[in-house]
Amino acid sequence: MRTPLLAGNWKMHKTPSEARVWFAEFLEANPALQGGRAAVEVALLPSFPLLPVAAEQLAGSGVAWGAQDVSAHGFGAYTGEVAAEQLADLGCRYVVVGHSERRAYWNESDALVAAKARRAMEAGLVPILCVGERLEEREAGRAVAFTLEQLAGSLEGVELTTGEELVIAYEPVWAIGTGKTASADDAQAMAAAIRGFLARRYGEAVAARTRILYGGSMKPANTAEILAGPDVDGGLVGGASLEVASFSAMVEAAG
Ligand code: PEP
Repeated sequence: MRTPLLAGNWKMHKTPSEARVWFAEFLEANPALQGGRAAVEVALLPSFPLLPVAAEQLAGSGVAWGAQDVSAHGFGAYTGEVAAEQLADLGCRYVVVGHSERRAYWNESDALVAAKARRAMEAGLVPILCVGERLEEREAGRAVAFTLEQLAGSLEGVELTTGEELVIAYEPVWAIGTGKTASADDAQAMAAAIRGFLARRYGEAVAARTRILYGGSMKPANTAEILAGPDVDGGLVGGASLEVASFSAMVEAAG
């Protein structure tokens, strides 16, 4: 019912020329993704200047693409911002909102994240909304309470009718880029708690169709185990998505 999604967050890596080579090699290495024959959906999330390259090379390939952030504003005098409609026009399907790096380094609040999610949805994009606790909350036994509170704030004013308009990524901050991964049991437990929250807020039908990803040092060796959780519907992958070989191995393991 929920097709697993493996999304590669390239963060601020690669030039457009490097992306061109990467996309070509990745498509060649993953022929099953073309024509919708794969059991897993794949999306690549490069930084803004790489999106026209993605649009050119991935169109019709079965691989989706998207951005790592979006403005909470519509068109206007907002120097340096990128509007949701600009991303949609480039064929983006997804956009990450509320990544922990943006929350930590740019002080993005739950309210801002919610505004970005609403704007993205107005333009027809699917937000990949990130939530997750820091080490201090996990050690204090507050991981679930903290994450659900953050989720509630980040969904303020966000209406869902099918559940397919949104993807949630559970990314424990202590696991991102650190080589430490949540156990498969912890990832499943949090995904189940998130689904329970969605059911209470939006109803069972919407909760059953909303994809919940895990993110945090996923790699080929732990992909199958993490994705085995019944509520874990895929992964948001940083470092391991930068190499064609490792990301292809994860696509294989997820399929
Ligand atoms: C991320 O940036 O969303 C992420 C999960 O990174 P990494 O896989 O490198 O931990």
